[in-house]
Amino acid sequence: MKSPDSDTHDTAPAPRPPLRALLAYARPHRRVLALVLLLTLGGSAAGLAQPMVIESAMTALMTGGSLRDTLLLLVGLLVVSIGFTWAQSWLSERTAERVVLQVRRGLITRLIRLRTAELDRVEPGGLTTRVTSDSTLVQHAATNGVIQLVDGAVHLLATIVLMGITSLPLLGITSGVLVLAGIAVGIVMPRIRRVTTRSQESVGDIGAALDRALGAARTVKANGGEATETARAVAAAEDAYRAGLVGARYQAAIAVITGMVVQASFLAVIGFGGALVATGTLNLAALIAFLLYLFNLGGPILSLVGGTTSLQQGLGALARIEEIDRMETEDDVDTVPARPTGPPPRVVLDGVTFSYADRTPVLEGASFTAPAGKVTAVIGPSGTGKTTVFSLLQRFYDVDGGRILLGDTDIAALSRAEVRRRIAYVEQDSPMLAGTIRENLLYAAPDATDEEIADVLRQTLLDRYVDGLPDGLDTNVGARGLALSGGQRQRLAIARALLRRPQVLLLDEVTAHLDGLSETALRQTVDRAAEHCTVLLIAHRLSTVTSADRLILLEGGRVRDHGKHEELLDRDELYRDLAATQLAVSH
Ligand code: ADP
Ligand code: MG
Repeated sequence: MKSPDSDTHDTAPAPRPPLRALLAYARPHRRVLALVLLLTLGGSAAGLAQPMVIESAMTALMTGGSLRDTLLLLVGLLVVSIGFTWAQSWLSERTAERVVLQVRRGLITRLIRLRTAELDRVEPGGLTTRVTSDSTLVQHAATNGVIQLVDGAVHLLATIVLMGITSLPLLGITSGVLVLAGIAVGIVMPRIRRVTTRSQESVGDIGAALDRALGAARTVKANGGEATETARAVAAAEDAYRAGLVGARYQAAIAVITGMVVQASFLAVIGFGGALVATGTLNLAALIAFLLYLFNLGGPILSLVGGTTSLQQGLGALARIEEIDRMETEDDVDTVPARPTGPPPRVVLDGVTFSYADRTPVLEGASFTAPAGKVTAVIGPSGTGKTTVFSLLQRFYDVDGGRILLGDTDIAALSRAEVRRRIAYVEQDSPMLAGTIRENLLYAAPDATDEEIADVLRQTLLDRYVDGLPDGLDTNVGARGLALSGGQRQRLAIARALLRRPQVLLLDEVTAHLDGLSETALRQTVDRAAEHCTVLLIAHRLSTVTSADRLILLEGGRVRDHGKHEELLDRDELYRDLAATQLAVSH
């Protein structure tokens, strides 16, 4: 969109963050970095002193003097410069590691707290590279990059001054070439930043493509989608390759420019300087010293080029990191899980309207009351917003209009942590977290006792199954709980919810694959739960619904009707239809 380089690769706007934003990462470490800079400059000074010493050695040789003192001085300079290099390198790398940890900690904290609506519109694979690799680019730029730049500049300046002291005419020749090189490098540099951004975006796309393919591995295999998924991820990898090639071309150009400059100045200095020596206007020792300075010029030039490259890459990466800083997070969620106390509240939807980011309204003035300590079933055709109601109840999203009350309190007035503490939620697909059965059960009720665990396992008829496992409660459930059957996973999710002893229990289509947990057993579990909490359930099977204290029939974003099974059967045509079809009667 804005850069010609990013032809097919058009992503979110990446405003160029100022250098200051990058330097902000270095600010907490400014003392150490200042020390590193001093050491670096000290090392450079020691290097700069060498030609001077050598010049005096040469003079001594030509006039028949002794070399001993000069050699000692050279050894001394070497030792000093090695010591400086060591200290400088260790301190700057340590600081760099600290910066990267700080950047990563910030990113991780934000990513895990991103609002549900933000998570709806991004691919997680694209976000993770910002934590893993963009952070190192920023770190490198904010520490080594800046130091290289300052050191390079100072070193270059000092070398030029010393060259001028040694021979002004020779400096004149050299600087002409230097200026040309500087212009060329200045043209290439901004392109390196653009190409870095593009390369990092492609690397993010590889992650996103793999997330998609591996996250639904069975679907991919069952549908023969291997080639498609491979092509997607490889396309991203090829894009990264192309960006890398462009970058390589720029780097090569810089290397050539630098090399040519040094070679050209050498030839010029030797030719012109030789003539000066022949005419006696310059002594040989000075010419040698000047040539040594010229040799040394490579160092600071490389520092400048390296520092600028790293700064450009860092700015590119920073733009991607700052996209995460601009995403909205939930900032009221950090409390240690604890079980709620107090009697179950009623749950009230009062004229609730809501639409997802695509702005198609899902709820349009939905109102109902789920009485305290009772079982309320939410039913309606698929896609009418039943799951959405549960999401709103937990403040995964906030309502656009109307209110949701827990008891008499508007949940908008409670922190998300508080709302979620009171409510336990069994998701439609009941994913588990990688870990053991025990870890999954205790996830939100870390203080539950072994007896309580045994009790909820009995209620969900998982006790025999768990007892039969070689590792019992300490059996691993595999990634996303895939080592369990769908029904086992769902029952485990119910057990986890019960263990929290919530005030409100939300069950989303838990009858969908309840192998082994019979209708009657589920009803008993739900009835028992209703003794100490308000239960809302979304159900498919008529038998689960008929026994509910109240039925809420959703249709077209509103509550179409509510009442008991018999009442609705009597007066509502849609309900009769649903009862006959969607709410499959079980035997
Ligand atoms: P139900 O549970 O009744 O089958 P949902 O509440 O899951 O229905 O969905 C209601 C409507 O909202 C559907 O049209 C669905 O496509 C849409 N929807 C659900 N979740 C999202 C989301 N995260 N982003 C955008 N639209 C969504
Ligand atoms: Mg649903």
